Amino acid sequence: MPEFVITPPPVACVPVAGGGRFPVRRIFCVGRNYAGHAREMGSDPDREPPFFFTKPADAVLTGGADMPYPPATSLLHHEMELVVALGVGGAGIAVADALGHVWGYAAGLDMTRRDLQNAAKQEGKPWDMAKGFDHSAPIGDIIPAARFPDPTRGRIALAVNGAIRQEADLSTLIWSVAETISFLSGLVRLAPGDLIFTGTPEGVAAVQRGDLLEGVVDGGGTVRTRIV
Ligand code: MN
Repeated sequence: MPEFVITPPPVACVPVAGGGRFPVRRIFCVGRNYAGHAREMGSDPDREPPFFFTKPADAVLTGGADMPYPPATSLLHHEMELVVALGVGGAGIAVADALGHVWGYAAGLDMTRRDLQNAAKQEGKPWDMAKGFDHSAPIGDIIPAARFPDPTRGRIALAVNGAIRQEADLSTLIWSVAETISFLSGLVRLAPGDLIFTGTPEGVAAVQRGDLLEGVVDGGGTVRTRIV
């Protein structure tokens, strides 16, 4: 095997509640997966199959670290989401088997440069630079699945500077965690280490430098970051 010609990049990781680190392979995100958010973005929530976009693995921001306000935007939005961490990969996973592929869950933020996303939508261009920028995926410690056995219900909420901005129940996901895993595994072969951000409820809005974001999925983890 030839030598690496530069130092190999480090493996992106997310701490696990109770100890250990979860290595991140890829980050998939579901678009418009709560009816209220689909409507606030101008879409019909009833007619769309799930669609996906990605972020780089090293976009994760962990341990409650500060998030630098990103360049090239003046409209940075929060999207509070339940994150699924896969421990077992596979292709063509049946809905009934899907939760058996989950290692754990976390609370995460799909931070979005909304101005760039709006421009990309209008021009039919990719979302990558709106969604997959540096530090765009703040995420809390991963909760092992045994401690959060039922991802079909539970409160998900985000407070900014102590005021609730987003609040919903996981039961209102258009595509459930199991359905999302199954659908995505029909597009790519999933692998251990993959994270799936499952979509955000309504109430997305802008944040500014100095804002403190605190999110929770009841029983499924917390996430915290300050925009600096
Ligand atoms: Mn999102």
